[in-house]
Amino acid sequence: MKCVVCRESAVIDVRRANSNFCSDHFVRFCQEQMSRAIREFDMLSSTDRVLVAVSGGKDSLAVWDLLQRSGYQADGLYLGLGIEDYSDTSVVFARSFAQSRNLNLIEVDLPTDYGYDIPSGARAARRAPCSACGTSKRHLFDKVALEGSYDVLVTGHNLDDEAAVLFGNVLRWQTEYLARQMPVLQARPGFPKKVKPLIRLSERDTAAYCILLGIDYMVDECPMSAGNKHLGYKEALNSIELASPGTKSDFYSGFLRKASELFRSAYLEAAPQGGTTESVEDLTHCVRCSAPSTSTLCAFCRLVEKAGGSVGAEQRGLRSAGDTSAAQPVRITKRAVGPEVSTTAPLRPTEVEAEL
Ligand code: SF4
Ligand SMILES: [Zn+2]
Ligand SMILES: [Zn+2]
Repeated sequence: MKCVVCRESAVIDVRRANSNFCSDHFVRFCQEQMSRAIREFDMLSSTDRVLVAVSGGKDSLAVWDLLQRSGYQADGLYLGLGIEDYSDTSVVFARSFAQSRNLNLIEVDLPTDYGYDIPSGARAARRAPCSACGTSKRHLFDKVALEGSYDVLVTGHNLDDEAAVLFGNVLRWQTEYLARQMPVLQARPGFPKKVKPLIRLSERDTAAYCILLGIDYMVDECPMSAGNKHLGYKEALNSIELASPGTKSDFYSGFLRKASELFRSAYLEAAPQGGTTESVEDLTHCVRCSAPSTSTLCAFCRLVEKAGGSVGAEQRGLRSAGDTSAAQPVRITKRAVGPEVSTTAPLRPTEVEAEL
């Protein structure tokens, strides 16, 4: 197997592109795919202050690395969810990456700063863990990005994530979600601009990118992910992709090119005067935290209240990851790059659920 660029020995095949690459040219391929997405959707400008939502997994560390290599000024934001060993371990990967590159990692910890964790808080609030997690992430990512005056919030959603979400939305014809499923959400009062630069790279690509560059990442799945419906959608799409490489990419890119604007226009037409594709309701402000909200208390403050926590981050202040005293030693593992698609490969739904 030879690299299609230099004819040296290839280390990876990218079947949807009908190409094999050596290590160097695969890294360049990933950089080009990200740059193309950024250009095509006007995601970032070279002077933007960027905040990357970092989970310690392959996607978020890969996008942070790619942005940094491309010359963007990007800080990281890690949200501690209080999920057993999963959180204790994932933060170590995020810190280790930041420290090795002298990058700034902002940390917010739900148990410490807000008095609840996802497993017990979700139970107390009678919410599914992923639902409580999504509400927490959306609110805190927005808050930190706005308070830190960042121009853009970046997430590591990849092609598999976006195709799975699209598949789910199409299966149920959730037209409102289809109208909003864009790789860029523009800033509006109370919300930062949000972008997904990895939409042209698969999960396998980001895993391979990390392994080839020696980036250690959290491989284990969140224990709350069992039964997540997006995992089933990914498996279904992987089966199709195996038989017909490129289908997943065609499905998602075709939606963006040919259909998303139709859903968007139809949604705008149906929206009340002044509505946007991101919300048709008139937003007011939460009386407790001032975030945009459709009711007196925003969804996050309602969750915190029911989960038995308290909104206290303002008093305690956000931490940067200079202090690693709490970091526990962990076993760093690397997962070999699997086949192009696999129905059994561990998938990381963290960022799928946290649809921004
Ligand atoms: S699976 Fe993802 S969204 Fe669900 S609780 Fe875990 S990290 Fe949060
Ligand atoms: Zn090559
Ligand atoms: Zn609030």
